[in-house]
Amino acid sequence: MTKRKGYWDVIVVGAGNAAHAAAVSACESGARRVLMLEKAPEALRGGNTHYSGGLLRLAFDTPDALLRLIPDVQTEFPDFLAGVAPYPAEAFWSDLRRVTRGGIDPDLGELLVSRSFDTACWMVGQGIRMEAAVSLAAIEFDGEVKWPSGAVVRAVDEGVGLSRMWFEIASRRGVVLRYQTGAQRLIQDGSGRISGVVVRDPDGITRLDAGSVVLACGGFEANPEWRARYLQRPWDMARVRGTAYNTGDGLRMALELGALAFGQWSGNHGTPIDADAPPFGDRHLTDKTNRLSYPLGVMVNTDGDRFIDEGEDFQLYTYAKTGGAILCQPGNVAYQIFDAKVTSLLEPRYVTGDPLVADTLDELIDKLPVGKAQLKASLAAYNAAVGEAPFDPTVHDGLETKGLTPSKSNWAQALDTPPFCAYPVTGGITFTFGGLRIDQNAQVLASDWTPIEGLFTCGEMVGGLFHHNYPGGSGLTSGAVFGRIAGRSAAESALP
Ligand SMILES: Cc1cc2nc3c(=O)[nH]c(=O)nc-3n(C[C@H](O)[C@H](O)[C@H](O)COP(=O)(O)OP(=O)(O)OC[C@H]3O[C@@H](n4cnc5c(N)ncnc54)[C@H](O)[C@@H]3O)c2cc1C
Repeated sequence: MTKRKGYWDVIVVGAGNAAHAAAVSACESGARRVLMLEKAPEALRGGNTHYSGGLLRLAFDTPDALLRLIPDVQTEFPDFLAGVAPYPAEAFWSDLRRVTRGGIDPDLGELLVSRSFDTACWMVGQGIRMEAAVSLAAIEFDGEVKWPSGAVVRAVDEGVGLSRMWFEIASRRGVVLRYQTGAQRLIQDGSGRISGVVVRDPDGITRLDAGSVVLACGGFEANPEWRARYLQRPWDMARVRGTAYNTGDGLRMALELGALAFGQWSGNHGTPIDADAPPFGDRHLTDKTNRLSYPLGVMVNTDGDRFIDEGEDFQLYTYAKTGGAILCQPGNVAYQIFDAKVTSLLEPRYVTGDPLVADTLDELIDKLPVGKAQLKASLAAYNAAVGEAPFDPTVHDGLETKGLTPSKSNWAQALDTPPFCAYPVTGGITFTFGGLRIDQNAQVLASDWTPIEGLFTCGEMVGGLFHHNYPGGSGLTSGAVFGRIAGRSAAESALP
């Protein structure tokens, strides 16, 4: 028999970035009894947020606005403000529209962009400490650190720090947290209002009553059956970059009650990762299996062919779709090949890899388990097609190949300087794009297009934002923006 236990103003399902923003915002909006449910045990808590790089994409008109988030940055990087370009709302918008191929919902996109900076300031006000995202997004070239557009700030100690700080903040706020407590089902009263959740914990099945519920329990990236169903092959076989607990429970519970699905259910964020990465994220390595410096070299499959334009854009605008391109190659693997001219520019995360190294390209080809004659031909054709412009990894340098398919649009230097190295990579799934339809208050809509009373959502569960691809650093910003809105709305809805 299902037990009944207590009444909560707001129950937040999940314990990642979005859930914490919602729980803290609910407290701030007057909710006194706020409960967070974490399906994972304490040792594995925090969802994908724990594994993340902690990077936040934010719109700001002038670089000195960033001093509100990272006031001491110039102590470590004296030229920081001079090296950062403004990233106004129009620039964030234009990036979102371009990479989602126009798929982003205009109303949700407007909220994401217009609330991004203010929400980051709110996070800092709650006690989240931030720093310049030097090892994640910046590149040191010609003795100078160059910062990419819009994605220059991260949480101190990256995702591990962000998660830890959120748990501390929520605890100080009096939010009650239950581990190993997975929501199984939403409870709906006779009026159609959501009035609680049924959970499964080590003691069995319990019914928890609440004034309102915020679903913040991630996408379905860790559920191979749903990946096969919605993303299709080869995603059912992909390694998961983060938590093993985001299995689509919240989406299932809401859809069962008639919630309106929204966004690209066949789409996901998937990145190039070390071919030996574990099946789920490693709590200590976190995002360090990422291999995102492919714009500086070439990528080949086991047939010996290049298969994408590695220099289409900066890595933060292509990496989220490149995992899929790799996963679709024979054997789900590829090799990233670099020469000595660029090895000092590779992201620091490459130190966790185990590259094949050789003094000549022929020797490297011999060492690689690929079609050798074709690889030799591909690399020769690439080297013959590279252009003449000066190489500059900090801008679109226009150093492109001529007459090559696929082309390389920028940063196309010849592979001619030993030693040469090759990093084996596969595609890892980060999170899924399909979600629920919400209104401006983060309230979930039903399939008759009216709001479901008492039900809110945020984070990976919000549909309609990302399609096909994603600009790096937008996920945490989205979680915080919509989490903050959802928490406030849930409190207002629950309180008399
Ligand atoms: C390796 C990696 C690196 C990343 N780097 C970045 C980055 O630098 N910047 C960025 O913007 N984004 C990044 N992302 C993406 C970003 O981390 C996620 O999109 C974001 O953290 C999602 O937040 P969330 O709160 O929606 O979900 P999560 O943080 O995943 O939290 C979901 C929570 O729900 C819990 N849960 C699931 N089902 C249930 C249930 N039935 N009952 C109770 N609890 C449940 C989970 O255990 C978890 O606590 C990265 C992701 C990964 C994996």
